[in-house]
Amino acid sequence: MEKARKRVLVKFSGEALAGENGFGIDTSILRFIASEIKSMVEANVEVGIVIGGGNIIRGVSAAKDGIIKRTSGDYMGMLSTVINSVAMQEALEYVGTDVRVQSAIKMEAICETFIVRRAQRHLEKGRIVIFAAGTGNPFFTTDTAATLRAIEIGADMIIKATKVDGVYDKDPNKFLDATLLHELSYDQAMQDSIKVMDDTSIALAKDNGLPIVVCNMFKKGNILNIINGDYSLCSVVK
Ligand code: UDP
Repeated sequence: MEKARKRVLVKFSGEALAGENGFGIDTSILRFIASEIKSMVEANVEVGIVIGGGNIIRGVSAAKDGIIKRTSGDYMGMLSTVINSVAMQEALEYVGTDVRVQSAIKMEAICETFIVRRAQRHLEKGRIVIFAAGTGNPFFTTDTAATLRAIEIGADMIIKATKVDGVYDKDPNKFLDATLLHELSYDQAMQDSIKVMDDTSIALAKDNGLPIVVCNMFKKGNILNIINGDYSLCSVVK
């Protein structure tokens, strides 16, 4: 029998797309990410993607002076993830991959609506699926949305692609002797000093035995190496 292909969900923060100025979308970063994802697809990996919206709007910040309600701010945040997802779709098509965006909130002129069976079919056909609009509900984060989608599509792992090599025992920007933790438990990952993701996401991953990998997205080939079993440059929560 043919071995089932690996399936992963990669989570990028919105800020990762912004580049130097911290806002908007830097197309050179989009292109870099797209070529990394392409190399994964070429290696026969099925790839789902979730992108945050922090480079455009976060609900909490939008609502901080009380003029915009938190729920509305959160919907604005979810819309930001759709903007990022459409941009990423373009970059992925630019590098020659097949990709679909599925939104948790129906917006049929822009993209498909999230339907898990349809997403699975796309993945089986070798298409990348970008899951947009978070969970579709306020008071959640895109980390939680990514964990939820990873579980729904039966991903082998969720990969949180960051600017750092993984999780450290203390802040590497402040302490020279900070060491990279190669493996940690879900409970350790929830500790305030570590906080790999928000508690909701970690609890969901823990309940469903989904490994969380934290790694550096800017090191070329790193994510594919991890998928191929080389965990030397990342942290794994399991
Ligand atoms: N958001 C939400 N529900 C979700 C996912 C996201 O309300 O299920 C909103 C929330 O306001 C959040 C914003 O969308 O601040 C952008 O997502 P996030 O902050 O997770 O983006 P990232 O930090 O990864 O860029």
